[in-house]
Amino acid sequence: MPTDGLKTETISGRSVSLRIGVDLGGNDIKFGATNLDASKILVPELVKRPSLTGEGPQKTVAQTVDGIEAVLERLGATWSDVSDISVTVPCPCSPEGVIIEATNIGTPETKQLWQVPFGELLAEAVHEVAGLRLPVFACNDADAAGQDDDFVRFGLDTGRRTSVFVTTGTGLGGCVMINGSVHYGRGQAGELGHVKASIPAQYAARFAVDTNPKCGCTGYQCTETRASLQGLVRRISWAISEEGAAFIQTRLEVRGETLNLAVLETLRELSKEGAKRAAYEVRTFADRDQDPFCRWLLEDWAVMIGVLFASIAPILHPDLFIIGGGLTEMSEKSKDWFIGVVRRVYGEVNAQKSFDLGPGKTEVVWSVSQDQGWRGAILMGMRAHQ
Ligand SMILES: [Zn+2]
Repeated sequence: MPTDGLKTETISGRSVSLRIGVDLGGNDIKFGATNLDASKILVPELVKRPSLTGEGPQKTVAQTVDGIEAVLERLGATWSDVSDISVTVPCPCSPEGVIIEATNIGTPETKQLWQVPFGELLAEAVHEVAGLRLPVFACNDADAAGQDDDFVRFGLDTGRRTSVFVTTGTGLGGCVMINGSVHYGRGQAGELGHVKASIPAQYAARFAVDTNPKCGCTGYQCTETRASLQGLVRRISWAISEEGAAFIQTRLEVRGETLNLAVLETLRELSKEGAKRAAYEVRTFADRDQDPFCRWLLEDWAVMIGVLFASIAPILHPDLFIIGGGLTEMSEKSKDWFIGVVRRVYGEVNAQKSFDLGPGKTEVVWSVSQDQGWRGAILMGMRAHQ
C-alpha cells in the first residue's frame, strides 16, 4: 500500500505514519496527505468534496470527515495511522483556530453560525466515527499558502529570514513569515490586504475618480479595494463608461499604446450580464492578448502591491516579497510585465537606498507553491504541535 515503508512514530500508543491536510474553500474542500515530515505527497490526485458552507458548519464537518475517509481508503490506511489533521479556512482565525469572522463562507443568514472553533467540531466528529481523539489544527488559508511557498524554497529550515507573502484573487490575502513560521501577533498579523497604503502623487490621477473605496471589512482605502477581483468589479463600470474609456485612452496614448475598441465593446457586452462577468475577462485579455486597456486596469493591482511592499519594507525589511494566488497562472510574459510594474513602483516609492531591491537584498518574486494550501496547513500544524 502507498503508506508501506513510511517512517512511523508512536503517539498515545498508536503507530502513526501520515498527516492529513484539508483546504476548505467557499465551494469545495480539497484533501491531501503527506508522510510525517511533509516531504512526500501521498495522494497525487487530490480528493474533493463540495463544502456546503451555506448551511452552517455541521454539514461541512460531515463532508470533511467523508473526504478524509476517501483519502484513507485510497491509501489503504485507517484513522489509526493518522498523526493529525490540519485545515485551512478562508477566514480570519485566532491562533486557537476559532473562526473570528466568516468572510468568504456561509450566507448572510448562516455567517453567525460559523464563528466557532472549526477544528474542535471536526475533532469531535472524527472521534465519533473513528473512536480516536486526533489533534486538529485550523488556520487561515493565506497563511497556509505562504507556508507552503516557504517549504518549497527552504524545506523545514528555520534559519534567519523574513518573507512577506500576498495572495491575489477575489481579495488580497497575506502573511508574514519569520524564520519559516507564520507570525500571528494576536492572531491577525499579516492581513496585508487591509493595510491602508496611501497612493503616491504620481498615481493620484489614476485613482482620482475612486478616492475613497469601501472595503469588505467595512474600512476604507484598504489595499484590497484596488488590488483584487472585488476591486476590479467595482472599477469596471467606470472603466467601460464613455468617460472612463476616454480617460484610459488618453493615458495609453501618452505611452504610445492604442485602445482596442473591439475589446472595449466585448467588455461592455459582457457587463450586461453583470460587472463580475466583464471583470473576469479583463485578466484573460490582459494576459492572452496583452491588451493595453485591460493591462491598464490590471496595473491597478501591480501599482498597489508595489506601494504596499514599499510601505512594509521599513517595518520588516524582509528578504522576500512574494506574490502568489490567481495571477501566478498567467503566462511567463505577462508575469514578467506585472512583476516589473510592482518592482518599478516599489522603487519609486522607496527612495531609501537601504531598502533597494536586488539579489542579496530584498527581492520581489512570484510564488513557487503549486496551490497546495492543504500542505501548508500540515506544515503550520506541525509547527504548532512542536
Ligand atoms: Zn479592509
